Amino acid sequence: MNGERKTLTYWMSRRVEEELRNIVKGDLLINQPMKEYTSFRVGGLADVIVFPEYIEYLIGTIKYLSRERIPYFILGNGTNLLVRDGGIRGVVIDLSHGFKRVELLKEDNSSLIFAEAGVPLVSLIKFAIDHSLSGLEFAAGIPGTVGGGLVMNAGGSLGELKDITQSVTILNPRGEITTKKQEDLRFSYRNLQLPRNSIILSAVFRLKIDNQLHIRERVQKILVKRKETQPMDLPNAGSIFKNPEGVSAGKLIDEAGLKGIRIGGDRVSELNANFILNPGNAAAQDILSLIEKIQQKVYQKTGFMLEPEIRIVGEN
Ligand SMILES: Cc1cc2nc3c(=O)[nH]c(=O)nc-3n(C[C@H](O)[C@H](O)[C@H](O)COP(=O)(O)OP(=O)(O)OC[C@H]3O[C@@H](n4cnc5c(N)ncnc54)[C@H](O)[C@@H]3O)c2cc1C
Repeated sequence: MNGERKTLTYWMSRRVEEELRNIVKGDLLINQPMKEYTSFRVGGLADVIVFPEYIEYLIGTIKYLSRERIPYFILGNGTNLLVRDGGIRGVVIDLSHGFKRVELLKEDNSSLIFAEAGVPLVSLIKFAIDHSLSGLEFAAGIPGTVGGGLVMNAGGSLGELKDITQSVTILNPRGEITTKKQEDLRFSYRNLQLPRNSIILSAVFRLKIDNQLHIRERVQKILVKRKETQPMDLPNAGSIFKNPEGVSAGKLIDEAGLKGIRIGGDRVSELNANFILNPGNAAAQDILSLIEKIQQKVYQKTGFMLEPEIRIVGEN
């Protein structure tokens, strides 16, 4: 967007607003504070948020925005996002009003679950437990959606979504749908490389039949451990930085003496040094300054340059 601030009128002339409303068919909201759509509770206004509920309306929306050269951004549950204070220009597409179908597909001895992008991971895990399917336990407590989880290759030391993904169905900006098999997907640590402006529509996960009680116990154990090691009381976006190979980012931050430091309203969590907590009134800029300060101090003390895990989006 070549740095120029396009006004809301530019994107949302009455013609564009009317055409978009007709195409989206679901809700369309103007000037929405992104702080209400993210777990960090920061972020300026998004020009427009749309909530298409069905695939044909989503395809229509994408084709329209591409044709009109209006930028768009896909929102999952907003739990890995830091939206800057200037907000998001163009259109935010939120799939949470639809795209919630989960189905069991049977094949040989293993079992496959089909899930649409807007399904919360917590619902997917519950579905797996209800059908005595194991393999998703590692994702217990991750507050994202299937779409956001895949883009982030969400997980931890016990596993990542890539380990159980059989295929992912993707919509490109021209409105074409393709399904890619695991071996053709470029997963890496906290990332899935997708063609620009593509949208994940759904995925198939390969799980294994197991004792339901044992699966439930494993999930409970992971949730208890999360409670012990992760702050739950204040808005945050989970781990801020990726772990450098073989080292914990939290440990490096701790070693640099930064646990609990503050800038503006934010602080680094005392329970987990890789979490930044928003006491409620922080600006995105406060958090960005803290991130920069942590990077500098950790680099000076340890020689590691920490790379953000969270996605930083929007305008200053
Ligand atoms: C308390 C807490 C604990 C957490 N613990 C973990 C953890 O243990 N492990 C871990 O990996 N993460 C963790 N996270 C981070 C976060 O929950 C995950 O990264 C999650 O997968 C993000 O999903 P989301 O739906 O919220 O995505 P969002 O934050 O909404 O989006 C993330 C990215 O995905 C893109 N995106 C979302 N949906 C789609 C789609 N359908 N198509 C294309 N692009 C899309 C967005 O544009 C954005 O770039 C934690 C977060 C919190 C707040």
